Amino acid sequence: MAMIDKVLIANRGEIALRVLRACKELGIRTVAVHSQVDRDLMHVRLADESVCIGPNSATESYLNIPAIISAAEVTDSVGIHPGYGFLAENADFAEQVEKSGFTFIGPRAETIRLMGNKVSAIEAMVKAGVPTVPGSNGPINNDDERTLRIAREIGYPVIIKAASGGGGRGMQVVHSEAALLKGIQVTQSEAKNAFGDPTVYLEKYLERPRHVEVQVLADTHGNVIHLGDRDCSMQRRHQKVIEEAPAPNIDEEARQKTLKACVDACKEIGYVGAGTFEFLYQDGAFYFIEMNTRVQVEHPVSEMVTGVDIVREQLRIASGMPLQYSQDDITISGHAMECRINAEDPKTFVPSPGKVNHFHAPGGNGIRVDSHLYSGYTVPPYYDSLVAKLITWGDDREIARRRMKNALDELVVDGIKTNQPLHRNLVRDGGFKSVDFTIHYLEKLIRD
Ligand code: ADP
Repeated sequence: MAMIDKVLIANRGEIALRVLRACKELGIRTVAVHSQVDRDLMHVRLADESVCIGPNSATESYLNIPAIISAAEVTDSVGIHPGYGFLAENADFAEQVEKSGFTFIGPRAETIRLMGNKVSAIEAMVKAGVPTVPGSNGPINNDDERTLRIAREIGYPVIIKAASGGGGRGMQVVHSEAALLKGIQVTQSEAKNAFGDPTVYLEKYLERPRHVEVQVLADTHGNVIHLGDRDCSMQRRHQKVIEEAPAPNIDEEARQKTLKACVDACKEIGYVGAGTFEFLYQDGAFYFIEMNTRVQVEHPVSEMVTGVDIVREQLRIASGMPLQYSQDDITISGHAMECRINAEDPKTFVPSPGKVNHFHAPGGNGIRVDSHLYSGYTVPPYYDSLVAKLITWGDDREIARRRMKNALDELVVDGIKTNQPLHRNLVRDGGFKSVDFTIHYLEKLIRD
């Protein structure tokens, strides 16, 4: 089985650089595609070839399927790596990539479609025996009596969620029966506008859960392994800010059962590639909320505690190679944390693009920095504000945390505002230190 020998990277920023590095290690030739403003990106300079695929707006460049496929054609690329965001979970893109004769480095289009709809994803999980949040287990129809009955059975508060929702949008919490039907109407019309699909469903609204997720890898030969779990409870507006692995203070029996359920579910649905099962964890129990069919921003924390290079495995899996590891080869060693450094005001969270006059990355034992920044680089205003990921490893959580404290003290991003001050406070915070937090913790801390 031969490794794919040329990969087009259909993304930008830190993840494009991450994929480029993995390709270079494996001797894979690389093609960077970029918008006009992005010709100065670090990975564009380091790639074997680069193609400008359009103007600055993402719709005309990183979301422009024909332009990306043409770039793959003119450069004789073999595989296309979508990174995360942009087209990474677009089933039509995956399908067109394959139809045009290229290899999509990710799951089958059919799987992306199944998991992209939260209602069908939950259905598949129920069938595979993965525990889900008590809820309607299917779409809400126009039989109001039925809807009210379902909500009563679930018990208030309930959360109304759009089947096609994503990025923390298309959700509404309802605390009483009086507000339910109106709330459903509003969410349906919002969902129709935002995602082109008005389908909504109901879930029990959990009031103090943590966000715990499971990383899996599955090859085309039917082998599936998990790389343990991650906690991503530090969130603002449903966007993760700090992640860590393994998830601390988890009931060991519930954890082992859930890890196994994820592996079994992958086998059941014929999953191929890297993927993440997202759960809410409350009172010692796991509840599935959704599956992400791509590499995630926070994948490095799992890499740091397992020693497995997730992007390399994606490239091997897409080449038809079997996994390099069996489950018995995977051991969780020490603890890792990741802080997402965003170009934004640390208090108002307003994006802060502009020129980085000076960039200095922290270093030392157990420190990893995934960033496309360099001194003199200008952060454009058109895309996501993530500019660096600081990742630390330690033999235990406390050492990882202290290393993060040091790393945040050493990091210099001069010229633009970043959320570095917020992170410096967070890693010193008592609740964070003692793992006394839920998904609502950070927002409350910011408010108070
Ligand atoms: P998205 O696809 O938009 O990311 P998710 O279904 O993954 O949506 O949910 C995002 C976040 O919303 C979760 O991490 C959690 O913070 C919150 N959330 C989702 N479902 C529930 C629920 N049933 N109860 C409480 N919070 C929830």
